[in-house]
Amino acid sequence: MDEQRAMLGVIAGSIKIIIGAGNDAKSEFVRTEKTNLTTPFGSPSEPFIETKLRTGETVVLLNRHGEGHLLGPSAINYRANVWGMKKLGVTHLLSICAVGSLEPHIKPGKTLLIPDQLFDWTKGARKHTFFDGQDDVVAHYGFADPICADFSATVAAACGTLIDEFNIAHEKSTPLVIIEGPTFSTRAESRFFRETLHAVAVGMTALPEARLAREAGLCYAVLCLPTDYDSWRAAEKGVESIEIAKTIKTFAKVPIAIIPYLARKLRDESCSCRVSFASAVASDLSKIDLKKMREYEIFER
Ligand SMILES: [Zn+2]
Repeated sequence: MDEQRAMLGVIAGSIKIIIGAGNDAKSEFVRTEKTNLTTPFGSPSEPFIETKLRTGETVVLLNRHGEGHLLGPSAINYRANVWGMKKLGVTHLLSICAVGSLEPHIKPGKTLLIPDQLFDWTKGARKHTFFDGQDDVVAHYGFADPICADFSATVAAACGTLIDEFNIAHEKSTPLVIIEGPTFSTRAESRFFRETLHAVAVGMTALPEARLAREAGLCYAVLCLPTDYDSWRAAEKGVESIEIAKTIKTFAKVPIAIIPYLARKLRDESCSCRVSFASAVASDLSKIDLKKMREYEIFER
């Protein structure tokens, strides 16, 4: 048994991860099981999908918007999703999300984007921490670099394998702006993101996911699937869902193509993402309900 074996978790959004284990002799995925979890923070988006690769690695998958895509970006229970991933043994969490491109050369349907910075433009409607002090403990920790550099580099290497087979390029660029949604940006917002924040793309879900992943001590990376040019270009009529649905299909094979590569390459090595829960907590633990504390035990390594 490899002591440094990592476990990959993948949360995807507009592109649903569909794995038909055992149906195809060439399939890398040999066994798939659904796992229902109840968490101290409520219900995850749907049951977790634990899948086994032919080479022995386990990967945990979750469709972010739930069965039937009924959960909007601000209705997703991000805390339950990330807590469940940690509980199931995940060490590296990859977020796959559709985004609007703010750069001419980041072409919808043609170029994947791997950001290493995030800019929070949400409105506070989401539960964005496990430690908000509402009914539990308060914790403070550094979040200057929300994306794990090593994990992100491995994701980029995995994406490098896509150009020959699918003619899909990738680019490491930054930052990604996270908006509340569910509407796409106004023209004024889109131009502000591009011209003032110098952002390269707009998405709706990487936060609070990244923050919760850091609190859970998970390495976190984002793989963006640009589906449109947002609304900054005068010639564009604006973003329409029907166009996004068409463009996203060009990326349909991306998750299944890169998951085996990542699962085999990743190692559970010491990383600054492994925030120590004990050292981050500001609250007096002697005043915390012991039952509550047990909910956080999974964050200790
Ligand atoms: Zn890391």
